[in-house]
This record gives sequence, C-alpha cells and structure tokens, in this order.
Amino acid sequence: MRLCRFRESRLGLVEGDRFRDVTAALDSLPAFRYPFPRHDALIANLDRVTERVRSIAGAEAPAALSSVKLQSPVANPDKIIGAPVNYPKHRDEAPDAQIHAGNALAAIHRVGLFLKASSAVAGPSDGIALRHLDRRSDHEVELAVIIGKTATSVPEARAMDVVAAYTIGLDITLRGPEERSFRKSSDTYAVVGPWLVTADEIPDPNNLRLTLSVNGEVRQDSSTNRMIMSVRELIAYASRFYTLHPGDIIMTGTPEGVSPLSPGDVISATIESIGSMEVLVRAAE
Ligand code: MN
Repeated sequence: MRLCRFRESRLGLVEGDRFRDVTAALDSLPAFRYPFPRHDALIANLDRVTERVRSIAGAEAPAALSSVKLQSPVANPDKIIGAPVNYPKHRDEAPDAQIHAGNALAAIHRVGLFLKASSAVAGPSDGIALRHLDRRSDHEVELAVIIGKTATSVPEARAMDVVAAYTIGLDITLRGPEERSFRKSSDTYAVVGPWLVTADEIPDPNNLRLTLSVNGEVRQDSSTNRMIMSVRELIAYASRFYTLHPGDIIMTGTPEGVSPLSPGDVISATIESIGSMEVLVRAAE
C-alpha cells in the first residue's frame, strides 16, 4: 500500500497518479496523553490504519495527486539515522577536498552512523531552504527505510521484520569542517517522500535503481545493490547502539554524482518501486 500525507496532515491512498482521501482511517489511532510516545503514531499503528484504509477507500472518489501539496509521510520521526559513504563510487569521489573538507574518510564499519535532527524533516512540497549561500551544499538521493517496530540489538536474520515501509530521502549536506550532523541538520535538509510504500511491496530493497536529476540533467544514477552495508546490516548495526522506534528513518547512503545546489534549482528524485518527487530549492529567509 502507498500512503501519502498531504495538505494539513490529511492521509491519502496513492493509486498511480491519483489518490483517495482516507483521512478518516486516522480515527483508528489510539488517543495519547502527555507525555507523548517516542515514536510516530501513524507508523506505530500502520497495520491498524491500513486495514481501516482498505475498508473505507472504495467510498472515496479519486483525485489527481498533482492537485495537492505532499508532506513527509512520517510526521514525527524520533530520529533520522544517516549512513556515511555507503557506496564504493561515492567513497572514491569523496576524497575531493572540496567535498569533504579534509574530514577523515574511513570505512562505514569504523566510523559508524550519524544522526540528523528530526526538525530537518520536510516533504516535497516544502522544498529545500538553502543556508550559507557562500558555501557548497550538495544533494544526496538515498533509499529511506521507515522503521515499524521498537527494536534493539536486532540480529541481521530478523532485521527486515522491523521495517514498516520505504520512501525516498534527500540528505542535503553543507560542505565544510563542522561535525557532519551539524552540517546536515538545517530545516528542510531531510526531504522525505513523496509517499511511503509498505514493505510487503518491496521484497528486496537492495535491488532498486535510484536516480536524481537537477534541472533535467541526470546527476546520480545507481542501484541500491551497490551499498557497502546493506539495509539488513544497517538496521542490525544501528540497533546495537540504540533502540529503534516506529517512524525512525534510516537514510541508507548516497551513490556517486553529488553536486552543488543553488536557489532556483529543481530536483527530481526517483527510486524504482517507490516513485518520483520534484523538490524546489530556494534561499532560506
Ligand atoms: Mn547521505
């Protein structure tokens, strides 16, 4: 099933280039009281919601997806986990001093994963608000894994059981000497969308073509089968260090072809079996 969040947190069932408004299915979410849970309520209750969506969708008339503003399909991720240099060819281009500013480059197995602020999350309709226009900021297209269960120290053999869904992630990155998480955590620097695709529709997340173009020119074109650390390994590895919560997003790393962004650019990102999204780049106010 493909679910989008649109306008003011309405829920849509995506069917091709159309959708049905199934916001009523959110009635199946439990009522929360303070303190709110450390997870995304929609993702934590996805089975219940999708069952309700199936029962009500037929009564709703389809409308064009192009007529609505899409938000991140995960409203409240507890954390966004990033994988540094997880594709061999991106690792090979990374020693470019302009790209990594002298940061020590080490294998992902040695340096581990990083976190982006959850306040960086944006949907395709929010666009990217670039800061520090005097410095280089790059696009990184990545398969984004949405965690569906609370999980800690998950063995690789069971890692795929904790995946709820997949979507496209843009890990926007300011280049420079500061800590990675600091440079990757500005508002809108974690674009997620255009919708989530439940895990049952993607039996092998490590065999998907992913592409990104800027103003119609292809910059990144690779396959998730080239990841150094697979989706399964990333989940097991992350969960050995901290508990994963429903709605946590793992951005699984970017292939080669990263390049600088400028205000006015139009990014088009596509991942096989998920879909495509267009994202506009502007200067932050
Ligand atoms: Mn990245």
